[in-house]
Amino acid sequence: MNILQFGSSTAICNICRSVDCYPLIHKDGHDVYRCRGCGLVFTHPLPEELYEQYDARYFDLYRRRRQFRLKRADARLRQIELIMRPGKLLDIGCSLGYFLEAAKSRGWDAWGIDVSDYAVNEARKLGLNVRVGDLEQVGFETGSFDCVTMWDVLEHVPDPTSHMREVRRVLATGGLVVIGTPNADHLAFRIKREKWRHFKPAEHVYYFGRFSIETLLRNTGFKPVRPSVLAPAVFVGHLGARIRALLSLIVQPNDVMTVYARAEE
Ligand SMILES: [Zn+2]
Repeated sequence: MNILQFGSSTAICNICRSVDCYPLIHKDGHDVYRCRGCGLVFTHPLPEELYEQYDARYFDLYRRRRQFRLKRADARLRQIELIMRPGKLLDIGCSLGYFLEAAKSRGWDAWGIDVSDYAVNEARKLGLNVRVGDLEQVGFETGSFDCVTMWDVLEHVPDPTSHMREVRRVLATGGLVVIGTPNADHLAFRIKREKWRHFKPAEHVYYFGRFSIETLLRNTGFKPVRPSVLAPAVFVGHLGARIRALLSLIVQPNDVMTVYARAEE
């Protein structure tokens, strides 16, 4: 039995299309539902000004943590390189371009897009290949990338299913998508609920768990994979990455998950 009763328009799950969704939390004037089918948690209705919040101020914190971000980008790339060799990479929501910078220095042919004019101009100053817009607007050629990364992006997009179909289109068959997003299965969300650090229903409009994100990936032409601890020893110096890959099979150390999937035929 639910005590909460939200607005009248029907909440439909973006992933499994179920209408069996119940009101979970109300915060900052937004209603958040959970799907009984796949567990997806989402803001309904969607805020109208979704992409207008990302101005210069939004990126200030990002810039202040440049060294931390470059180091983390390098660690993330080492994990990816346990699955594939460097190739042509697209970073969606590239922000000021620090991940692209790290990718470039590791031998990737790195490209980026972001909805923020400001961020793209800043990334261009670093000499990076970046374009303004969302993936549909930019319209890359079919099969033109070997790897697509999305760090802290999928929780912001208005329609994850159509977004992931477009990601599948721009990836070559066998290509890899890597998604970093808050983990709604994590104990931190179960305990803290609306006080969870990632719970911002005006900008984070989708919260995934392992089952819902893997369902989304399978629905849109992907097969989930994991970085292999036993990957061929192509790159020396990936021991730390191997240990982290092994640990991630056992524990979920933080409340953000990284999900890897291959583009299928
Ligand atoms: Zn669902």
